[in-house]
Amino acid sequence: MAYTLRPYQQEAVDAVLSHFRRDRSPAVVVLPTGAGKSLVIAELARLAKGRVLVLTHVQELVAQNQEKFAAFGEHSAIYSAGLGQKDTDAKVVFASVQSLARIAKQLTEPYSIVIVDECHRISLDTDSQYQALLQQLQRVNPKLCLLGLTATPYRLDGGWIYQRHVNGTLRSQEDKPFAQCVYELPISRLIKDGYLTPPNLVDGAVASWLLPDDSGELPQVDPEFRGRATTLICQQIVEQAQSRQGVIVFAATVLHGKEILARLPKGEAALLTAETPKPERAELIARFKARELKFLVNVAVLTTGFDAPHVDLIALMRRTDSVALFQQMVGRGLRLSPGKSDCLVLDYAGNGYSLFSPEVGEPRPHPDTEPVSVPCPKCGHDNAFWGRSDDHGLVLEHFGRRCQGWDEESSAQCDYRFRFKECPDCLTENDIAARQCQGCGKQLVDPDARLKEVLRLKDYKVLRCSGIQLEADSDKQGKPRLKVRWFDEDGDELNRAFYFDSPQQKGHFYHQFARNHLKNPGQPLRLQDRDQVLAHQHLFRHPDFVIARLEKKRFWRVIECVFDYKGRFRTADSAY
Ligand SMILES: [Zn+2]
Ligand SMILES: [Zn+2]
Repeated sequence: MAYTLRPYQQEAVDAVLSHFRRDRSPAVVVLPTGAGKSLVIAELARLAKGRVLVLTHVQELVAQNQEKFAAFGEHSAIYSAGLGQKDTDAKVVFASVQSLARIAKQLTEPYSIVIVDECHRISLDTDSQYQALLQQLQRVNPKLCLLGLTATPYRLDGGWIYQRHVNGTLRSQEDKPFAQCVYELPISRLIKDGYLTPPNLVDGAVASWLLPDDSGELPQVDPEFRGRATTLICQQIVEQAQSRQGVIVFAATVLHGKEILARLPKGEAALLTAETPKPERAELIARFKARELKFLVNVAVLTTGFDAPHVDLIALMRRTDSVALFQQMVGRGLRLSPGKSDCLVLDYAGNGYSLFSPEVGEPRPHPDTEPVSVPCPKCGHDNAFWGRSDDHGLVLEHFGRRCQGWDEESSAQCDYRFRFKECPDCLTENDIAARQCQGCGKQLVDPDARLKEVLRLKDYKVLRCSGIQLEADSDKQGKPRLKVRWFDEDGDELNRAFYFDSPQQKGHFYHQFARNHLKNPGQPLRLQDRDQVLAHQHLFRHPDFVIARLEKKRFWRVIECVFDYKGRFRTADSAY
């Protein structure tokens, strides 16, 4: 029986072929769970001119991929100790990496392409099984094509698994297992095209601050209070579950999972953790799929490879900083199944992402931030940064530093910086964390050393800034001016005046104040006079520290504002 590929599966196949026709750098295809990766693999294996090796780390996937290929009526071999087959004598071989790595040295016949399923498991560590095997295959065929498939190209522990995206985004300048992502299918398109069930995302938000996050640490609140909150949440889940077929609850820690389990109907619920013995885990999953159990509480074990299409209620009781992980958790409930029209997703942890949110690939700076889209004013590239936006989706603030646009022609990253540290000598814009100027090589002052230095000097003052205010004012001659006031937590302040009478003065305001105080840098700013600036107060953020020097023994002159501070001195914001 022949398969017809879905349109996006054909697109993925075409993207891979056109990439390897151009160059032989390792490529990745990103397909969400439920997209039918094994069909893409089968079609690529069928089309390949030379021998094909399909590698995975779990035997179930080896079998699954091979079965799909066999359904094309094609011949292949399996090499997997766990499946009891050790055969490499075919044009297409499906193998488990553990089994094949043991006989790597005997693989002397060239393969033309290696396809790695669940390829986010590959590390750059040369001692790893994957790398040892790949090196051997490359020795036999230096022109070997390496293709990876995954649903999760970003990992909280190791970052992106590839360097560049075909849409022109540079993810990382560091070495990565893959050079380019040649195709990516967003989960939203699968839903739109009817291949997945639409989710119905409801912000539980009762008590997000009571729930643990990725670190697994329980927040410092009265345990009794937390217990009451858990009870309320569980009551709501049970209530909602009455009209649902299967429920998965994501908890953050084993302890938290036990607390939840104790509050769900006895005999209808089970807890799965990394510590659950394998046979018991398999039995619980089987009972859940057979609908003997209605509730499955789990701690970090059901995010990949688990498939129970009837699940139609997902309760998130853990926070995560990874957009991809969030989407994977929601994805557990999106499989198509008879009698299922939607999947209810109760997000009690206030994660605040949607299925359309892109992965940012940076630590989330604050729990109330979300991925926002920020176009580069220089090259137009659409950047995904952490930020804040209003109800209409207008970006109010973002934390991006440098444009991630990649220019294929010049093979270089766009050099536009949204936030930067300017070299006092040559005015080169450097990354805010840079220690040395990339223009002239000058040692840039470390903010910690700078603060320590001025705190020792008696003619200097350091304000731990917690707020800012802009006001209309006039000087002794009655000339109108803008007064900027920086406050600390005790209400102590420093201030500075700006005039807008000449183009020079306007430029001065921009360079001395607006440029580094903007919450949303990179947007065109046309504030021509004091009144326009005052009407746009909300565009400005306050620095972490303001440094002033005593002039003529009479007044404090603000000489420096320290932003984006990460060091050992406490900042005013750190209370939350
Ligand atoms: Zn750019
Ligand atoms: Zn310099």
